Amino acid sequence: MKSLPDSAQAGIKFSAELLRKAKRAIVLTGAGFSTPSGIPDFRSEGSGLWSRDEPLEVASLLTFRIHPEKFYMWFRPLVNQIFEAIPNAAHRALAELEKAGYVHSILTQNIDMLHQKAGTMHVVELHGTLKTLSCTQCFRKVESVPYLEPFIKQGVLPHCPHCGALLKPDVILFGEQLPQKAWLEAQRESRACDLMLVAGSSLEVMPVAGLPMQALDRGAHLVIINNSTTYLNTRADASIQENVSDIIPAITEQVLYG
Ligand SMILES: [Zn+2]
Repeated sequence: MKSLPDSAQAGIKFSAELLRKAKRAIVLTGAGFSTPSGIPDFRSEGSGLWSRDEPLEVASLLTFRIHPEKFYMWFRPLVNQIFEAIPNAAHRALAELEKAGYVHSILTQNIDMLHQKAGTMHVVELHGTLKTLSCTQCFRKVESVPYLEPFIKQGVLPHCPHCGALLKPDVILFGEQLPQKAWLEAQRESRACDLMLVAGSSLEVMPVAGLPMQALDRGAHLVIINNSTTYLNTRADASIQENVSDIIPAITEQVLYG
């Protein structure tokens, strides 16, 4: 592990104390949680994906409806990276914390299934998942791997095995509503927790970015671990501006063995 500044060390210790004392801690994770696994944050400038196409335009429901091939061509390298990615140290540490009873649930903005691959049981996927595709005509769901692998290799767009219509990944595009069930659950979790850890999210994408406010309004503690500052850092009990893959394992070690 790289050596961390004293302020980060103090933040780790304090966050571990909060986690130990909490009766119901939850974690909200964003793109920064998966960048150490090699998945670019497609909403960020300089990710490589942004420079070629404006994600707000190409990753939108409107583009998908009008020019699905344009959407799919943009999506192709990202799908490939997600399929090849493996959980990083932060995913594994969080799964350990959950197993030991220190984390009640994980709310995530990520679509990459890495929390589940690391062994986490209770994940609320706020921006959907790449695990499944849904038919745009008959709305049947299928597992994505058998359809997206030929797409990655040969560029063949995935079509419904039942009716032949185009399949859409079950990920939330710009201009699309969040999945209702996940959103309601995330709000319930945020209001019921006594500690929320925000990890790897810049809290820029609404409405998810508003969830920590719901926790704060009910008196919960807030810890923010992110590379850059967020709009709520001044209201957090602790904020650590470092990589989650350095900090989450360090906090976990403190909680479990410190
Ligand atoms: Zn169909």
